[in-house]
Amino acid sequence: MIDTLRLTAEDAIGLVERGEVSSAELHQAYVAAIAERDPELHAYLRVLEEPNGPSIPIALKDVIGTKDVETTAGSRILEGYVPVYDSTVAARCKARGLSLLGKTNTDEFAMGSSTENSAYGPTHNPWDPSRVPGGSGGGSAAAVSAGLAPWALGSDTGGSIKQPSALCGNVGLRPTYGTVSRYGIVAFASSLDQVGPVARTVRDCALLYSIIAGRDHCDSTTVELPHAVELPEAEDLKGLRVGVPKEFNEHEAIEPGVRDAVQRAIELCRELGAEVGECSLPHAVEYGMPCYYLIAPAEASSNLARYDGVRYGHRAAAADRLEMYERTREEGFGDEPKRRIMVGTYALSAGYYDAYYGQAQKVRTLLIREHAEQFERFDVLVSPTSPSVAFELGARTANPLAMYLSDLLTIPSCLAGLPGLNVPCGLSEGLPVGLQLIGPQFSENTLFRIGHALENAIGFDGVPARWR
Ligand code: GLN
Repeated sequence: MIDTLRLTAEDAIGLVERGEVSSAELHQAYVAAIAERDPELHAYLRVLEEPNGPSIPIALKDVIGTKDVETTAGSRILEGYVPVYDSTVAARCKARGLSLLGKTNTDEFAMGSSTENSAYGPTHNPWDPSRVPGGSGGGSAAAVSAGLAPWALGSDTGGSIKQPSALCGNVGLRPTYGTVSRYGIVAFASSLDQVGPVARTVRDCALLYSIIAGRDHCDSTTVELPHAVELPEAEDLKGLRVGVPKEFNEHEAIEPGVRDAVQRAIELCRELGAEVGECSLPHAVEYGMPCYYLIAPAEASSNLARYDGVRYGHRAAAADRLEMYERTREEGFGDEPKRRIMVGTYALSAGYYDAYYGQAQKVRTLLIREHAEQFERFDVLVSPTSPSVAFELGARTANPLAMYLSDLLTIPSCLAGLPGLNVPCGLSEGLPVGLQLIGPQFSENTLFRIGHALENAIGFDGVPARWR
Protein backbone atom coordinates (compact mmCIF):
# COMPACT_ATOMS: atom_id res chain seq x y z
CA MET A 1 0.00 0.00 0.00
CA ILE A 2 1.27 3.48 -0.89
CA ASP A 3 0.61 5.93 1.94
CA THR A 4 0.13 9.12 -0.09
CA LEU A 5 -0.32 11.14 3.12
CA ARG A 6 3.32 10.59 4.08
CA LEU A 7 5.14 9.89 0.84
CA THR A 8 7.59 12.63 -0.15
CA ALA A 9 8.30 13.33 -3.80
CA GLU A 10 11.91 12.32 -3.28
CA ASP A 11 10.87 8.93 -1.87
CA ALA A 12 8.28 8.50 -4.61
CA ILE A 13 10.95 9.09 -7.27
CA GLY A 14 13.12 6.50 -5.51
CA LEU A 15 10.31 3.93 -5.57
CA VAL A 16 9.76 4.45 -9.30
CA GLU A 17 13.46 4.51 -10.21
CA ARG A 18 14.15 1.28 -8.33
CA GLY A 19 11.16 -0.29 -10.07
CA GLU A 20 9.38 -1.02 -6.77
CA VAL A 21 6.32 0.88 -7.93
CA SER A 22 5.37 1.77 -11.49
CA SER A 23 4.46 5.33 -12.40
CA ALA A 24 1.00 4.04 -13.31
CA GLU A 25 0.51 2.48 -9.85
CA LEU A 26 1.65 5.68 -8.21
CA HIS A 27 -0.68 7.79 -10.34
CA GLN A 28 -3.55 5.44 -9.51
CA ALA A 29 -2.79 5.66 -5.78
CA TYR A 30 -3.21 9.44 -5.94
CA VAL A 31 -6.33 9.18 -8.09
CA ALA A 32 -7.77 6.85 -5.43
CA ALA A 33 -6.83 9.26 -2.63
CA ILE A 34 -8.51 12.07 -4.57
CA ALA A 35 -11.67 9.98 -5.01
CA GLU A 36 -11.69 9.37 -1.26
CA ARG A 37 -10.87 12.80 0.16
CA ASP A 38 -11.42 15.44 -2.51
CA PRO A 39 -15.23 15.41 -2.48
CA GLU A 40 -14.92 17.04 0.97
CA LEU A 41 -12.00 19.34 0.12
CA HIS A 42 -12.47 20.37 -3.53
CA ALA A 43 -8.75 20.93 -4.06
CA TYR A 44 -9.03 19.91 -7.72
CA LEU A 45 -10.94 21.49 -10.57
CA ARG A 46 -10.13 18.54 -12.83
CA VAL A 47 -8.26 15.28 -12.48
CA LEU A 48 -6.45 13.26 -15.14
CA GLU A 49 -7.15 9.61 -14.41
CA GLU A 50 -4.47 8.23 -16.70
CA PRO A 51 -0.75 8.74 -16.16
CA ASN A 52 0.93 10.71 -18.92
CA GLY A 53 4.57 10.59 -17.86
CA PRO A 54 7.10 7.92 -16.76
CA SER A 55 7.95 9.53 -13.41
CA ILE A 56 5.86 10.69 -10.43
CA PRO A 57 2.70 12.82 -10.60
CA ILE A 58 2.32 16.57 -10.04
CA ALA A 59 -0.65 18.89 -9.60
CA LEU A 60 -0.69 22.34 -11.20
CA LYS A 61 -2.62 25.41 -10.11
CA ASP A 62 -5.22 26.23 -12.72
CA VAL A 63 -3.53 29.50 -13.75
CA ILE A 64 -0.78 27.37 -15.33
CA GLY A 65 -1.51 26.76 -18.99
CA THR A 66 -1.54 23.08 -20.00
CA LYS A 67 -1.79 21.88 -23.59
CA ASP A 68 -5.03 20.01 -24.28
CA VAL A 69 -6.15 20.39 -20.65
CA GLU A 70 -8.73 23.03 -19.77
CA THR A 71 -7.23 26.01 -17.92
CA THR A 72 -9.73 28.36 -16.27
CA ALA A 73 -7.83 30.34 -13.60
CA GLY A 74 -10.89 29.74 -11.42
CA SER A 75 -12.98 32.01 -13.67
CA ARG A 76 -16.17 31.53 -15.67
CA ILE A 77 -14.75 33.73 -18.38
CA LEU A 78 -12.17 31.04 -19.18
CA GLU A 79 -14.59 28.14 -18.94
CA GLY A 80 -13.90 25.78 -21.82
CA TYR A 81 -10.53 27.34 -22.66
CA VAL A 82 -8.15 24.57 -23.70
CA PRO A 83 -4.65 25.91 -24.41
CA VAL A 84 -3.00 24.76 -27.63
CA TYR A 85 0.44 24.98 -26.01
CA ASP A 86 2.12 24.24 -22.67
CA SER A 87 3.36 26.96 -20.36
CA THR A 88 7.12 26.70 -19.95
CA VAL A 89 6.80 25.35 -16.40
CA ALA A 90 4.34 22.66 -17.53
CA ALA A 91 6.67 21.78 -20.41
CA ARG A 92 9.64 21.50 -18.03
CA CYS A 93 7.69 19.19 -15.73
CA LYS A 94 6.75 17.07 -18.74
CA ALA A 95 10.36 16.98 -19.95
CA ARG A 96 11.31 15.56 -16.53
CA GLY A 97 8.72 12.82 -16.97
CA LEU A 98 6.28 14.18 -14.39
CA SER A 99 2.73 13.01 -14.89
CA LEU A 100 -0.01 15.66 -14.76
CA LEU A 101 -2.44 14.59 -12.03
CA GLY A 102 -4.79 17.53 -12.31
CA LYS A 103 -5.45 21.23 -12.09
CA THR A 104 -5.99 22.74 -8.67
CA ASN A 105 -8.51 25.27 -7.48
CA THR A 106 -7.64 28.95 -7.18
CA ASP A 107 -9.26 32.26 -6.43
CA GLU A 108 -10.45 33.75 -9.71
CA PHE A 109 -7.35 35.01 -11.57
CA ALA A 110 -5.40 34.32 -8.35
CA MET A 111 -7.12 37.27 -6.67
CA GLY A 112 -7.76 36.36 -3.07
CA SER A 113 -6.40 34.88 0.13
CA SER A 114 -8.83 32.05 0.83
CA THR A 115 -9.77 30.35 -2.48
CA GLU A 116 -13.34 31.45 -1.78
CA ASN A 117 -13.25 33.69 -4.87
CA SER A 118 -13.10 30.68 -7.19
CA ALA A 119 -16.07 30.70 -9.56
CA TYR A 120 -16.20 26.92 -9.06
CA GLY A 121 -16.67 26.97 -5.28
CA PRO A 122 -14.17 27.10 -2.42
CA THR A 123 -11.53 24.63 -1.32
CA HIS A 124 -11.55 23.45 2.30
CA ASN A 125 -8.60 23.14 4.66
CA PRO A 126 -7.55 19.49 5.18
CA TRP A 127 -6.88 20.17 8.88
CA ASP A 128 -10.40 21.45 9.46
CA PRO A 129 -12.83 21.57 6.52
CA SER A 130 -14.78 24.42 8.13
CA ARG A 131 -11.68 26.58 7.55
CA VAL A 132 -10.13 28.07 4.43
CA PRO A 133 -6.89 26.66 2.98
CA GLY A 134 -5.61 30.18 2.28
CA GLY A 135 -5.24 31.55 -1.18
CA SER A 136 -5.11 32.11 -3.92
CA GLY A 137 -3.38 28.75 -4.31
CA GLY A 138 -5.50 26.94 -1.73
CA GLY A 139 -6.06 24.03 -4.12
CA SER A 140 -2.38 23.18 -4.50
CA ALA A 141 -1.66 23.58 -0.78
CA ALA A 142 -4.68 21.49 0.27
CA ALA A 143 -3.83 18.80 -2.29
CA VAL A 144 -0.30 18.38 -0.94
CA SER A 145 -1.36 18.36 2.72
CA ALA A 146 -4.17 15.89 2.11
CA GLY A 147 -1.91 13.46 0.26
CA LEU A 148 -3.69 14.16 -3.03
CA ALA A 149 -0.41 15.00 -4.81
CA PRO A 150 3.24 14.44 -3.87
CA TRP A 151 3.95 18.04 -4.86
CA ALA A 152 2.39 20.88 -6.80
CA LEU A 153 3.02 24.21 -8.44
CA GLY A 154 1.37 27.42 -7.35
CA SER A 155 1.75 31.04 -8.34
CA ASP A 156 2.48 33.93 -6.04
CA THR A 157 1.76 37.60 -6.70
CA GLY A 158 1.48 38.84 -3.14
CA GLY A 159 1.54 35.67 -1.07
CA SER A 160 -0.48 33.03 -2.90
CA ILE A 161 2.11 30.28 -2.45
CA LYS A 162 3.50 31.22 0.97
CA GLN A 163 0.24 31.98 2.76
CA PRO A 164 -1.73 28.82 1.74
CA SER A 165 1.34 26.72 2.58
CA ALA A 166 1.33 28.33 6.02
CA LEU A 167 -2.38 27.66 6.54
CA CYS A 168 -2.18 24.05 5.29
CA GLY A 169 1.13 23.13 6.97
CA ASN A 170 3.46 22.52 4.04
CA VAL A 171 6.53 24.04 2.41
CA GLY A 172 6.06 26.68 -0.27
CA LEU A 173 8.60 28.74 -2.16
CA ARG A 174 7.96 32.03 -3.87
CA PRO A 175 11.10 32.25 -6.04
CA THR A 176 13.16 35.34 -6.84
CA TYR A 177 11.27 37.33 -9.47
CA GLY A 178 12.66 36.43 -12.89
CA THR A 179 13.96 32.97 -12.07
CA VAL A 180 10.82 31.13 -13.21
CA SER A 181 9.18 31.66 -16.59
CA ARG A 182 5.72 33.24 -16.77
CA TYR A 183 5.22 32.08 -20.37
CA GLY A 184 1.81 30.45 -20.63
CA ILE A 185 0.69 31.52 -17.13
CA VAL A 186 -2.64 33.35 -16.89
CA ALA A 187 -1.35 36.83 -16.02
CA PHE A 188 -2.53 38.73 -12.94
CA ALA A 189 0.12 41.39 -12.16
CA SER A 190 3.09 40.82 -14.43
CA SER A 191 5.74 42.61 -12.36
CA LEU A 192 4.86 40.43 -9.35
CA ASP A 193 3.67 37.01 -10.61
CA GLN A 194 6.03 34.09 -9.96
CA VAL A 195 5.35 30.36 -10.20
CA GLY A 196 6.81 28.20 -7.45
CA PRO A 197 6.72 24.81 -5.73
CA VAL A 198 4.50 23.53 -2.91
CA ALA A 199 5.76 20.36 -1.23
CA ARG A 200 5.88 18.26 1.92
CA THR A 201 9.58 18.90 2.59
CA VAL A 202 12.15 21.59 1.89
CA ARG A 203 14.21 19.13 -0.16
CA ASP A 204 11.21 18.34 -2.40
CA CYS A 205 10.66 22.06 -2.77
CA ALA A 206 14.29 22.58 -3.84
CA LEU A 207 14.10 19.67 -6.27
CA LEU A 208 10.97 21.00 -7.95
CA TYR A 209 12.47 24.50 -8.10
CA SER A 210 15.49 23.06 -9.91
CA ILE A 211 13.14 21.56 -12.50
CA ILE A 212 11.24 24.76 -13.32
CA ALA A 213 13.79 27.55 -12.80
CA GLY A 214 16.10 29.26 -15.28
CA ARG A 215 16.17 31.44 -18.36
CA ASP A 216 13.40 30.95 -20.90
CA HIS A 217 13.65 32.65 -24.27
CA CYS A 218 9.84 32.93 -24.31
CA ASP A 219 9.89 35.22 -21.25
CA SER A 220 12.30 38.13 -21.53
CA THR A 221 12.08 38.86 -17.80
CA THR A 222 13.78 35.56 -16.92
CA VAL A 223 17.45 35.05 -16.10
CA GLU A 224 19.74 32.05 -15.76
CA LEU A 225 20.28 31.08 -12.10
CA PRO A 226 23.67 32.39 -10.92
CA HIS A 227 24.33 29.06 -9.16
CA ALA A 228 22.86 25.57 -9.41
CA VAL A 229 20.11 24.58 -6.97
CA GLU A 230 21.54 22.55 -4.08
CA LEU A 231 19.48 19.99 -2.20
CA PRO A 232 19.99 20.94 1.45
CA GLU A 233 21.73 18.52 3.81
CA ALA A 234 23.21 20.54 6.67
CA GLU A 235 21.59 20.13 10.07
CA ASP A 236 22.97 23.30 11.66
CA LEU A 237 22.88 27.02 10.98
CA LYS A 238 26.48 27.85 11.83
CA GLY A 239 27.75 31.02 10.21
CA LEU A 240 24.29 32.31 9.28
CA ARG A 241 22.88 35.63 10.40
CA VAL A 242 19.14 35.75 11.07
CA GLY A 243 17.37 39.10 11.26
CA VAL A 244 14.10 39.55 13.14
CA PRO A 245 12.32 42.64 11.79
CA LYS A 246 10.27 43.97 14.64
CA GLU A 247 7.44 45.40 12.50
CA PHE A 248 6.87 41.92 11.06
CA ASN A 249 6.99 40.14 14.40
CA GLU A 250 5.23 42.52 16.74
CA HIS A 251 2.32 43.67 14.59
CA GLU A 252 -0.97 43.77 16.48
CA ALA A 253 -2.71 41.61 13.87
CA ILE A 254 -0.49 38.63 14.77
CA GLU A 255 -2.35 36.07 16.89
CA PRO A 256 -0.64 35.11 20.18
CA GLY A 257 -0.44 31.43 19.21
CA VAL A 258 1.23 32.34 15.92
CA ARG A 259 3.69 34.65 17.67
CA ASP A 260 4.63 31.92 20.19
CA ALA A 261 5.32 29.28 17.54
CA VAL A 262 7.43 31.72 15.53
CA GLN A 263 9.34 32.84 18.64
CA ARG A 264 10.20 29.21 19.38
CA ALA A 265 11.47 28.76 15.82
CA ILE A 266 13.64 31.87 16.18
CA GLU A 267 15.02 30.48 19.45
CA LEU A 268 15.80 27.24 17.58
CA CYS A 269 17.80 29.21 15.00
CA ARG A 270 20.02 30.36 17.85
CA GLU A 271 20.34 26.83 19.24
CA LEU A 272 21.31 25.56 15.80
CA GLY A 273 24.20 28.00 15.71
CA ALA A 274 22.85 31.05 13.89
CA GLU A 275 23.52 34.59 15.00
CA VAL A 276 20.13 36.18 15.67
CA GLY A 277 19.56 39.93 15.84
CA GLU A 278 16.64 42.32 15.84
CA CYS A 279 16.20 44.77 12.99
CA SER A 280 13.70 47.19 11.54
CA LEU A 281 12.04 47.77 8.16
CA PRO A 282 10.14 50.91 9.08
CA HIS A 283 8.02 51.30 5.94
CA ALA A 284 7.52 47.75 4.66
CA VAL A 285 4.49 46.65 6.66
CA GLU A 286 2.79 50.04 6.77
CA TYR A 287 3.15 50.92 3.09
CA GLY A 288 3.45 47.49 1.48
CA MET A 289 -0.29 46.85 1.45
CA PRO A 290 -1.46 50.19 -0.06
CA CYS A 291 1.39 50.07 -2.57
CA TYR A 292 0.47 46.52 -3.62
CA TYR A 293 -3.22 47.36 -3.94
CA LEU A 294 -2.39 50.05 -6.49
CA ILE A 295 0.25 48.22 -8.50
CA ALA A 296 -1.43 44.79 -8.63
CA PRO A 297 -4.91 46.06 -9.69
CA ALA A 298 -3.32 48.50 -12.19
CA GLU A 299 -1.49 45.67 -13.90
CA ALA A 300 -4.49 43.36 -13.56
CA SER A 301 -6.82 45.86 -15.25
CA SER A 302 -4.47 45.88 -18.21
CA ASN A 303 -3.93 42.09 -18.28
CA LEU A 304 -7.65 41.33 -18.01
CA ALA A 305 -8.49 43.55 -20.98
CA ARG A 306 -7.80 40.57 -23.25
CA TYR A 307 -10.90 38.67 -22.08
CA ASP A 308 -13.34 39.99 -24.62
CA GLY A 309 -15.19 36.85 -25.65
CA VAL A 310 -13.33 36.70 -28.95
CA ARG A 311 -10.18 34.78 -28.16
CA TYR A 312 -10.74 32.65 -25.07
CA GLY A 313 -13.42 30.79 -23.16
CA HIS A 314 -16.86 32.20 -22.51
CA ARG A 315 -18.71 34.30 -25.11
CA ALA A 316 -22.09 35.88 -24.38
CA ALA A 317 -24.84 35.97 -26.97
CA ALA A 318 -25.48 39.52 -28.19
CA ALA A 319 -26.80 41.56 -31.11
CA ASP A 320 -23.53 43.29 -31.92
CA ARG A 321 -19.86 43.17 -31.08
CA LEU A 322 -19.77 45.89 -28.42
CA GLU A 323 -22.69 44.36 -26.58
CA MET A 324 -20.95 40.97 -26.83
CA TYR A 325 -17.80 42.35 -25.16
CA GLU A 326 -19.79 43.98 -22.40
CA ARG A 327 -22.02 41.03 -21.66
CA THR A 328 -19.14 38.56 -21.79
CA ARG A 329 -17.23 40.55 -19.19
CA GLU A 330 -20.31 41.19 -17.07
CA GLU A 331 -21.20 37.48 -17.02
CA GLY A 332 -17.70 36.07 -17.02
CA PHE A 333 -15.93 37.99 -14.27
CA GLY A 334 -16.78 37.60 -10.58
CA ASP A 335 -16.88 40.47 -8.07
CA GLU A 336 -13.18 40.48 -7.12
CA PRO A 337 -11.75 40.82 -10.65
CA LYS A 338 -14.37 43.50 -11.37
CA ARG A 339 -13.36 45.37 -8.21
CA ARG A 340 -9.72 45.25 -9.23
CA ILE A 341 -10.37 46.25 -12.83
CA MET A 342 -12.19 49.34 -11.53
CA VAL A 343 -9.51 50.25 -8.98
CA GLY A 344 -6.75 49.64 -11.49
CA THR A 345 -8.36 51.55 -14.33
CA TYR A 346 -8.95 54.47 -12.00
CA ALA A 347 -5.37 54.46 -10.71
CA LEU A 348 -4.05 54.45 -14.27
CA SER A 349 -6.34 57.14 -15.66
CA ALA A 350 -4.96 60.45 -16.94
CA GLY A 351 -4.76 62.95 -14.13
CA TYR A 352 -4.47 60.27 -11.44
CA TYR A 353 -1.60 58.25 -12.84
CA ASP A 354 1.20 60.16 -11.10
CA ALA A 355 -0.65 60.50 -7.82
CA TYR A 356 -1.43 56.77 -7.56
CA TYR A 357 0.51 54.44 -9.85
CA GLY A 358 3.57 56.71 -10.06
CA GLN A 359 3.63 57.22 -6.30
CA ALA A 360 3.23 53.49 -5.65
CA GLN A 361 6.23 52.79 -7.88
CA LYS A 362 8.31 55.18 -5.79
CA VAL A 363 7.23 53.44 -2.60
CA ARG A 364 8.13 50.14 -4.22
CA THR A 365 11.67 51.41 -4.82
CA LEU A 366 11.85 52.52 -1.20
CA LEU A 367 10.88 49.01 -0.05
CA ILE A 368 13.50 47.45 -2.33
CA ARG A 369 16.18 49.67 -0.74
CA GLU A 370 14.90 49.05 2.77
CA HIS A 371 15.22 45.28 2.31
CA ALA A 372 18.63 45.57 0.60
CA GLU A 373 19.98 47.52 3.56
CA GLN A 374 19.04 44.73 5.96
CA PHE A 375 20.71 42.13 3.77
CA GLU A 376 24.03 43.85 4.35
CA ARG A 377 23.71 42.65 7.96
CA PHE A 378 21.63 39.50 7.66
CA ASP A 379 21.41 36.44 5.40
CA VAL A 380 17.73 35.97 6.07
CA LEU A 381 14.79 37.78 7.68
CA VAL A 382 12.19 35.80 9.62
CA SER A 383 8.58 36.44 10.64
CA PRO A 384 5.21 34.73 10.65
CA THR A 385 3.98 34.06 7.10
CA SER A 386 0.37 34.79 8.03
CA PRO A 387 -0.75 36.81 11.05
CA SER A 388 -3.43 34.20 11.77
CA VAL A 389 -4.01 30.49 11.40
CA ALA A 390 -6.64 29.28 8.93
CA PHE A 391 -9.90 31.18 9.43
CA GLU A 392 -13.47 29.96 9.05
CA LEU A 393 -14.99 29.94 5.59
CA GLY A 394 -17.04 33.10 5.14
CA ALA A 395 -15.29 34.98 7.96
CA ARG A 396 -13.68 37.56 5.67
CA THR A 397 -15.70 37.37 2.45
CA ALA A 398 -17.95 40.32 3.29
CA ASN A 399 -15.01 42.61 4.00
CA PRO A 400 -12.38 42.87 1.25
CA LEU A 401 -10.04 44.86 3.51
CA ALA A 402 -10.05 42.16 6.20
CA MET A 403 -9.26 39.63 3.46
CA TYR A 404 -6.41 41.79 2.10
CA LEU A 405 -4.84 41.89 5.60
CA SER A 406 -4.13 38.15 5.34
CA ASP A 407 -1.14 39.08 3.18
CA LEU A 408 0.21 41.87 5.34
CA LEU A 409 3.48 40.06 6.00
CA THR A 410 3.97 38.35 2.64
CA ILE A 411 3.42 41.36 0.38
CA PRO A 412 6.45 43.62 1.12
CA SER A 413 9.09 41.13 -0.04
CA CYS A 414 7.00 40.31 -3.14
CA LEU A 415 7.09 43.98 -4.12
CA ALA A 416 10.86 43.88 -3.62
CA GLY A 417 11.18 40.86 -5.95
CA LEU A 418 12.67 38.71 -3.19
CA PRO A 419 12.36 34.98 -2.63
CA GLY A 420 10.39 33.71 0.36
CA LEU A 421 10.01 30.25 1.87
CA ASN A 422 7.25 29.08 4.17
CA VAL A 423 8.24 26.37 6.64
CA PRO A 424 5.69 24.91 9.09
CA CYS A 425 6.82 25.68 12.64
CA GLY A 426 4.11 24.29 14.90
CA LEU A 427 0.43 24.42 15.73
CA SER A 428 -1.86 27.00 17.28
CA GLU A 429 -5.44 25.98 18.11
CA GLY A 430 -4.60 22.67 16.42
CA LEU A 431 -3.88 24.44 13.12
CA PRO A 432 -0.55 24.91 11.33
CA VAL A 433 1.60 28.02 11.81
CA GLY A 434 4.06 29.03 9.09
CA LEU A 435 7.45 30.67 9.45
CA GLN A 436 8.41 33.01 6.61
CA LEU A 437 12.08 33.15 5.55
CA ILE A 438 12.98 36.05 3.26
CA GLY A 439 16.37 36.34 1.58
CA PRO A 440 18.07 38.58 -0.96
CA GLN A 441 17.61 37.90 -4.69
CA PHE A 442 18.87 34.46 -5.77
CA SER A 443 19.34 33.27 -2.17
CA GLU A 444 17.11 30.20 -2.61
CA ASN A 445 19.93 27.84 -1.63
CA THR A 446 20.35 29.67 1.69
CA LEU A 447 16.60 29.59 2.31
CA PHE A 448 16.56 25.85 1.58
CA ARG A 449 19.49 25.26 3.93
CA ILE A 450 17.86 27.16 6.80
CA GLY A 451 14.43 25.70 6.09
CA HIS A 452 15.79 22.16 6.01
CA ALA A 453 17.70 22.49 9.30
CA LEU A 454 14.67 24.02 11.00
CA GLU A 455 12.31 21.43 9.55
CA ASN A 456 14.45 18.64 11.04
CA ALA A 457 14.78 20.35 14.39
CA ILE A 458 11.06 21.17 14.62
CA GLY A 459 9.86 17.75 13.49
CA PHE A 460 6.46 19.09 12.37
CA ASP A 461 4.06 16.32 11.35
CA GLY A 462 2.45 17.58 8.14
CA VAL A 463 -0.31 14.96 8.17
CA PRO A 464 -3.52 16.62 9.35
CA ALA A 465 -4.27 15.31 12.84
CA ARG A 466 -7.60 13.74 11.88
CA TRP A 467 -5.91 11.34 9.44
CA ARG A 468 -3.03 10.12 11.58
N1 GLN B 1 -4.11 37.83 -1.74
C1 GLN B 1 -3.36 38.67 -2.63
C2 GLN B 1 -4.28 39.23 -3.67
O1 GLN B 1 -5.45 38.96 -3.62
C3 GLN B 1 -2.25 37.88 -3.27
C4 GLN B 1 -2.75 36.95 -4.28
C5 GLN B 1 -1.64 36.27 -5.04
O2 GLN B 1 -0.51 36.21 -4.59
N2 GLN B 1 -1.99 35.80 -6.22
O3 GLN B 1 -3.87 39.97 -4.54
